[in-house]
Amino acid sequence: MGRLLLVRDITARTAKSHVVVTDMVAASFLVGPMLLILFFISLTRAERQMEEWRKRVTEESGARMQLREDHLRALEHAALYDTLTGLPNRKSLDEQLAHAVDTATQEGKRFILALLNIQRVNEINVTLGHETGDTLLRQVAERLEQGLPDALVVARTGGDEFAVALPAPGETSAADVVKMIRGTLSPTFYVGGISLDMLANIGIALYPEHAHYAVALLRRADVAMRQAKRRRENYAVYDSSLDPHGTRRLTLLGDLRQAIEEDRLVLHYQPQVSMKENRVVAAEALVRWAHPKLGLIPPAEFIPIAEQTGVIKALTRWVLKRALAQQAIWMRQGLDLAMCVNLSAHDLQDEALPDHVAELIEQSTRAPHRLTLELTESAIMHDAEQALGVLNRFAAMGCPLSIDDFGTGYSSLVYLKRLPVRELKVDGSFVADMCRKENDASIVASTISLAHTLGLVVVAEGVADGATRDALAELACDRFQGYYISRALPPAAFVEWLASVSGQAGLTPAVQT
Ligand code: C2E
Ligand code: MG
Ligand code: MG
Repeated sequence: MGRLLLVRDITARTAKSHVVVTDMVAASFLVGPMLLILFFISLTRAERQMEEWRKRVTEESGARMQLREDHLRALEHAALYDTLTGLPNRKSLDEQLAHAVDTATQEGKRFILALLNIQRVNEINVTLGHETGDTLLRQVAERLEQGLPDALVVARTGGDEFAVALPAPGETSAADVVKMIRGTLSPTFYVGGISLDMLANIGIALYPEHAHYAVALLRRADVAMRQAKRRRENYAVYDSSLDPHGTRRLTLLGDLRQAIEEDRLVLHYQPQVSMKENRVVAAEALVRWAHPKLGLIPPAEFIPIAEQTGVIKALTRWVLKRALAQQAIWMRQGLDLAMCVNLSAHDLQDEALPDHVAELIEQSTRAPHRLTLELTESAIMHDAEQALGVLNRFAAMGCPLSIDDFGTGYSSLVYLKRLPVRELKVDGSFVADMCRKENDASIVASTISLAHTLGLVVVAEGVADGATRDALAELACDRFQGYYISRALPPAAFVEWLASVSGQAGLTPAVQT
C-alpha cells in the first residue's frame, strides 16, 4: 500500500504570525510602560488619598480626643473651681488646705485660716438684683486675690462665704490677719453706679494651735464665723467652749433643761420709750441664766444651743408664762406696760403655741393686744409658709407682731407687708453708729420712712446716747430702747428705776399709782 508523505511550506504563514507577534511585542513595549506609568500614577494617587484619609481620621480622632480632654478638663475645673468668681471652691479648698497643712508641718510654720461671711449679700440680691450681687461677689474675689498676694489659699466656699489662709510668721495674731482682710474690703465697692460698703463676719482658726488636720481646722473656723455672726462682731477666734461639739456646750445643754424645769432662769426687763409722749410704754423680757458653776451665761450663748436642740420650745413657754405673770402683777399695781417677748424660728413650727399663749393670757392679763411677739427676719424666712400660718393665728388673737433686728436678715419690706406685722425694730448695729456713719444713718432713715409708708410702728434698739435719741426723733422714729434709758433690769429694780425717773424732765414713766 505505500505511504504518502505530505510536506507543506508554512513559512509564509508563520512569517505573518511572526509579524503579528513582533507587532504585539513592539506594542507591548510601547503600551506596557504607559500602563505601568498609569498604574503607578493611580497607585500613587490612591496612596496619597489613603494618606489623606489616614491623616483626616487621625486629625478627627485627635480633635475628638482633644474635645473629650477639654470637656473632662472643664468638668474637672467646674468640680474644683467656682464658676462665678473662678476661685477654688469648697472641694478644692479641702485639698489645698491639706497641702498647706503638710507644708506647714514639714517647715514647722504657722498659718491662720479665716472664713469670711460677706454681710448683706442676700439683701443686695433682693433689693438691687442678682446681677449686682454677682458682680459684687466677683469684685470681692478679685480684691481678696490681689490684696493678699501671700495667701496660701483664697477660695469661695459658698454663696456669700470665702476662705483665706495666710501665713502667720512669728507673733502674727488673728487681729493682724483680720486687719489685712478688712483692709482689702474696706474701700467702697462700685457696682452699676451704686456705691456699697461691704463688711464681713470673720471666723478664725489657727494652725497648729486649734487643729492639726485641714478638715478640723475648717470646721473650727466655721464655728468661729458663726459665733462672729451671732454676736454681730467683726471677727471671732475659735473658742473650744463655744464649739457645738465641745464639752461646755454639752454641759450647758443638760443644765439648761434642768434650769428650766427647776425654774432657775430669770427675766430682766428693758424699758421701751415712746418718742412723742416721752413715756415708758413697754418692757422687753430678756432671759438671764446664772449658772451655779459657770456664772452668768449670756443669752447669745445659750439661746442658740436651745434652738439647735429643741429645748427652745420649753424655754419660750417658760418665758411667756413668767413675762405674762409679771405683766399681770404690774397691771394690778397700775403700771400700764406692753410686754415684748422674743420668739425663735422653732416657735413658729410649734402649731400648739398660739393656743398655749391664748390660755396663758387668759390666766394672766387677759389683754392679748398688750403682748408683742418679736421675731427676727431669719426666723420667719426659715420656713416662711409654715411661719405665716402661726403668725396669722397670733394676729387673729390680737397679739401685735414685731420684726426684731431688722436690717440684719434677708427680707425686704415689700415681703414683710404680706405678713401680719405691726412693728419693726431697727437693729442696734445700725442705730449705734448712726451719728458717726453716714451709711448707717441713711439706712435708719430710709427704713423708718419705708416702714411708715407701710403703716408700721418703728422702734429703734441699741440707743446708747442722747444724740442718737435726738437724731431718731428728727426722723420721726416712734419708740426706742437702749442703754441711754436703761439696761434690762430685774423686776424689782425695774419698778424702782421707773419710780426714780418718774417726774424727771424729759421722761414720764407709765407709773399711774
Ligand atoms: P434682742 O431681742 O435684739 O435684744 C436686745 C439686746 O440688745 C439685749 O441683749 C439687750 O440687752 C441689748 N441692748 C439693749 N440696749 C442696748 C444698747 O444700748 N447697747 C447695746 N450694745 N446693747 C443693748 P441680750 O439681753 O444679751 O439679748 C441678746 C439676744 O438674745 C436678744 O436680742 C434676743 O435675740 C435673745 N434673747 C434674749 N432673751 C430671749 C428670750 O427670752 N427668748 C428668745 N428666743 N431669745 C432671747
Ligand atoms: Mg428682741
Ligand atoms: Mg433686737
